[in-house]
Amino acid sequence: MKHGIINAYRAFLPDVTDATPIITLYEGDTPLLEAPRLRERLFLPDNLRLFIKFEGMNPTGSFKDRGMTMAVSKAAERGAQAVMCASTGNTSAAAAAYAARAGMRSVVLLPRGEVAMGKLSQALMHGATVLAIDGNFDEALCLVRDICATHPFDLVNSVNPVRLEGQKTAAFEIVDELGDAPDYHAIPVGNAGNITAYWRGFRQYHAAGKTTKLPKMLGFQAAGASPIVDGHPVLHPQTIATAIRIGNPASWQGAVAARDESGGLIDRVSDERILEAYAAVAASEGIFAEPACATPLAGLQSLAEQGYFPLDRPLRVSVTLTGHGLKDPDRALKVSGGSVREAPAQKDAILRELEKAIF
Ligand SMILES: *Cc1c(COP(=O)(O)O)cnc(C)c1O
Repeated sequence: MKHGIINAYRAFLPDVTDATPIITLYEGDTPLLEAPRLRERLFLPDNLRLFIKFEGMNPTGSFKDRGMTMAVSKAAERGAQAVMCASTGNTSAAAAAYAARAGMRSVVLLPRGEVAMGKLSQALMHGATVLAIDGNFDEALCLVRDICATHPFDLVNSVNPVRLEGQKTAAFEIVDELGDAPDYHAIPVGNAGNITAYWRGFRQYHAAGKTTKLPKMLGFQAAGASPIVDGHPVLHPQTIATAIRIGNPASWQGAVAARDESGGLIDRVSDERILEAYAAVAASEGIFAEPACATPLAGLQSLAEQGYFPLDRPLRVSVTLTGHGLKDPDRALKVSGGSVREAPAQKDAILRELEKAIF
């Protein structure tokens, strides 16, 4: 395996030239794990094999690293001194880390009070200038676009086209691992860059003769932040899945194209269902993902309940778990009940406690 997504997939990344310095933390090459226990727990039919693409295993703990290696490499090529982004958290963590790696400054705008602690601590530790604004992600992105248009900051949000170029490599990895495209690919939808990027990746690999088919793309939004399902922007998006708390996705058209061209769908799921799936994947497979990642798992469960999946042939379904659970330990402690038992440092007392807990 070549290190980093640019080295691994350079032939499919025409933006990278001999003049591009490659700024990498060895992102990509993340595990694709079959998840039979979770499949059962979500009541998915047994002709369906469920595969988890665990993007929490990237260097800063989310898929944003795939796009950021491209965005910061291109910024370095232009001689940029600083990058800037709006973020629900993970973009800022990735931007700050890759900027540090390139010896650049970074500035991030965050919605105040809405960013998980792990993500904020990453941005701060990597030396970003962090500004919490009195507004949501959509407003932050608007401001960043405005500032980057007139000031010497390189914009590294996914409206920067090379971000999606980097992110499409996750689709390549799934195909390389499965030997063909899956029948369905499920993914959370926030700003909608990632679903757009995956669809591009699957199509390009298909066009290159590396797959015999294209997957149906299944995108899922949180019920309180589902502009694409509603068909209009949501002014005050609300959901516990903060990474996808977005009311006016920048890549809206890309998501709609992925849905329609693939014959898939974009649907919504409740926060309650998201939290159940979040706990289920951690408990049944040992995979700790952040809450937003559970959105497509809850979505698959609800599609199975509606009898969506054909039962007459083997199916392979891949699902992207976009970020690591350690990003948001507060939520994990809340959902798990945080019930830590106490006992004196004494064998009998501990065994008595275990008796109560396990038997
Ligand atoms: C950014 C992010 C998303 C949303 O991806 P989009 O490309 O904005 O749709 C989902 N989950 C996590 C963990 C993220 O960081």
